Amino acid sequence: MRACTFLKSFRFPALALLGLLVLGLCLAGPASAASAQKRPASMQPGHVDTFTVGSIKVYGIVDAATTMETTLLNPEFRLNLPQASFAGVVKTYLLQWNGKNVLVDTGWGSHGPKGVTLQVLKKLGIAPEAITDILLTHLDTDHAGGLTCEDKAAFPNATLHVARPEYEAWMAGTVKRPADKVALVKENLSHYKPVLFNWGDIVLPGCTAMDAHGHTPGHTVFDLLSAGKKLSILGDLMHIQTVQLRFPRACTAYDMDQEAAIASRLATFKRLANTKVLVTGMHFAETGYLHLNAKGVYTLVRP
Ligand SMILES: [Zn+2]
Repeated sequence: MRACTFLKSFRFPALALLGLLVLGLCLAGPASAASAQKRPASMQPGHVDTFTVGSIKVYGIVDAATTMETTLLNPEFRLNLPQASFAGVVKTYLLQWNGKNVLVDTGWGSHGPKGVTLQVLKKLGIAPEAITDILLTHLDTDHAGGLTCEDKAAFPNATLHVARPEYEAWMAGTVKRPADKVALVKENLSHYKPVLFNWGDIVLPGCTAMDAHGHTPGHTVFDLLSAGKKLSILGDLMHIQTVQLRFPRACTAYDMDQEAAIASRLATFKRLANTKVLVTGMHFAETGYLHLNAKGVYTLVRP
């Protein structure tokens, strides 16, 4: 997609509408129109993006393909978008360091669009029994669905790490999600003995849990540090990256507490912009550096 160099930092909502008009014009070019139709190889289920962060080997796994409808956005952010949907992904991450095989989120598993993380791990030569730890950004089904396989723990030897407020909200049934989804999450968790962490905790050596609540009550960003190199896994801080990078105040219907989600997005963007911290997430294909230009526009710059 061509960069739109003249977008400014818009004040919501009036100028945001103008911004989206401009964004719409920017996206309407031939390259963008094609990208809305075509799904690149990096967004195909089973695709694996491999890179290192210090001594951490990272495998970004496309668990499933999704389509993000623009109707998910609040109405003021839908106007003038040139397309009705964006190609999306559900991703999981395998991190290997210190002799551990750490899975960040588990994908859909057999729920929703069937996830392929287990098959990809098999291809990588990683047996489910070899996963030592699972870190969950939160408990939605596209992240915690893969905890079980055929009604058993999919990763029987793994220690499961979940943010305390996330665990407590789902167990209490106070999350804004359908009852069947809550029941599924509870059932999946029952196959593990979750270790609960608080924000600011070092969950594993070199991995710190950061507060990013709003999307869900305990939504967590994981900051990784190894040999001076850094990676931040943003979880569901963004669902439609193209829109939410330009308009961090744009929420989707998936964000349970929209004001808190906006605050988390803004604070995390501010913390990571124009640093040497690589960022990636569960619903966008790219990994890159978050750049904030002089006009107040965020972009993701490939390394
Ligand atoms: Zn998600």
